Order: sequence, then C-alpha cells, then structure tokens
Amino acid sequence: MHITRKLMSLLVAAIAVTGFTLGSSSAASLPEDVQAIAKRGELRVGVKSDVPGFGMQDLSGDYEGMEIDLAKKIAEAMGLDADDVRFTAVTAKTRGQLLDAGDIDMVIATFTITEDRKKIWNFTTPYYTDAVSLLVKKNSGIKNYSDLVGKRVGVAEGSTSKDALIAAAKSHGVTLTDTDNIQTFPDYPSIKAALDAGQVQAFCVDGSILSGYLDGGTELLTSIRFSPQDYGIATKLSNKGLAEFVEGLIVQWKNDGTINKLISDNGVAPSFEK
Ligand code: GLU
Repeated sequence: MHITRKLMSLLVAAIAVTGFTLGSSSAASLPEDVQAIAKRGELRVGVKSDVPGFGMQDLSGDYEGMEIDLAKKIAEAMGLDADDVRFTAVTAKTRGQLLDAGDIDMVIATFTITEDRKKIWNFTTPYYTDAVSLLVKKNSGIKNYSDLVGKRVGVAEGSTSKDALIAAAKSHGVTLTDTDNIQTFPDYPSIKAALDAGQVQAFCVDGSILSGYLDGGTELLTSIRFSPQDYGIATKLSNKGLAEFVEGLIVQWKNDGTINKLISDNGVAPSFEK
C-alpha cells in the first residue's frame, strides 16, 4: 500500500474514531506514535499463541482468535492492511518486558487490567471479562476450596492467578498459602505437565486459558469460578497518543456491537457477568 494512502486513511480513521481535531489539516496533528506505526507499515502486537478463541497459532504458523481479529481491525483503522500486523507470541511473564523494550507496540493477550499494572502500562476499557477457574484430573475429588487444603496448585509467573485464588479461598473461610499450596511455573504447558505427572493437583488460571489444556483426562471445574478478569489492550506508558487512539476504537466497537460479533464469530463464551 502506498504511504500516502496509508496516511490519508489514518487521518480519516483518527478523526472518525477518536475525535482528534486537525487544526492544520495535516498528519502532523495526529499522535506521533500512531503516525510512526503507519509510516513503518507494520503494527507489532503481542498475542497469546495457545488460548483457543483468543490467540491461537496453528501448525502453519498463522494466528486466529478474537484478539487476533482485534489487532487486524486496529491496523486497518490506522490505514494499514489487516495482514500488516506482525504477531509475537507472548506469555504472562514476557508480555510486559516486550512492551517495555519496544519490541511490540501493544499487547492483546488476555491481559488483565489491575490497579498495579495501570501504573506501569496504559490499558484500554475492557473488551472481555473472564473468571479464574481450576483444571483438575477427572475424579480428583476437588469440588470446593476446602478440598485444596493439603494440595498444590500450579500457577504461572507474572499472572494474577495466585493472589486471586488465595483471596477467593479466604473469602470462603479457607486458608491457602504460597508455601504450602502454590507452585509457580514459567508457562502453561509446564503446569499441565506437572498436573499430568501428579506434581500439582490443580492448574489455576482464567477459564479461557484453561480450556486450551482440557483433554480426556482432565476437567474444568464449574463449582470454582472467581475473580472476574477484565482484559484490556496494553500500550507503553509513554505512548499516550497510541493509547488514546486504541481506547477510542474499543469504546466505539463495544458500542456498535463489533466486539460482541468478534466474541461470537470466534466461538468464545459471552463475557463473565460480574
Ligand atoms: N489474565 C491473567 C493475567 O493477566 C492470567 C494470565 C495470562 O493472561 O496469561 O494475569
């Protein structure tokens, strides 16, 4: 695509979506960080590669899911083509580091908005809400929080899961501790391997993520669902213009039904009702 057409589309999109005013009718009045991406001709997005319906990489290396579609739509709103997005697979541990290092422009990867994280990165309005749950072996006997006493639960480094589980158990009168009940792993495949090997008795994270690890030998508990996780798109704290641009898009797409369509088109369950 020729650069001038990209910049023109960028101007039109920015005015329509975020209400940026063009005092001098030039691209110069658009946020510089958005212009820089359009000029580069490539939007760099950190996504999950193993979360069905959200961010999933197939054997040929292609990505699909609602977070993938969101990234493509954002690229189009910047005047780029949907296939001008370069996806990078991230984990709960790596996504913030990649953003800080400038390797990616944004993270759209089941990234829960928290007060602490908002001090480090910009987050948009939530586009989806999921609940945390547990994946256990079939016939594990685990049904309630009290069944976790004396057991070990695997959680991922850099995720909200550990604190969420300890707090939810506490609110049900059950004390779980980091030392006695939690084991931290660098990624989800290693937690699943530890569950299969009997090293942990439960795998705890958002239900959407767990559904990617469900197999014949395991079940996703419906009796333990807690701590609604609001997913937002994160950008580097200094990229204020980009953050405002993406926020405008998400607000518009929530209002006009686009987000709901992405949820249903990708076979994702409706957002968790708080
Ligand atoms: N959504 C949770 C978080 O942001 C779980 C971790 C993950 O997204 O991988 O901490």
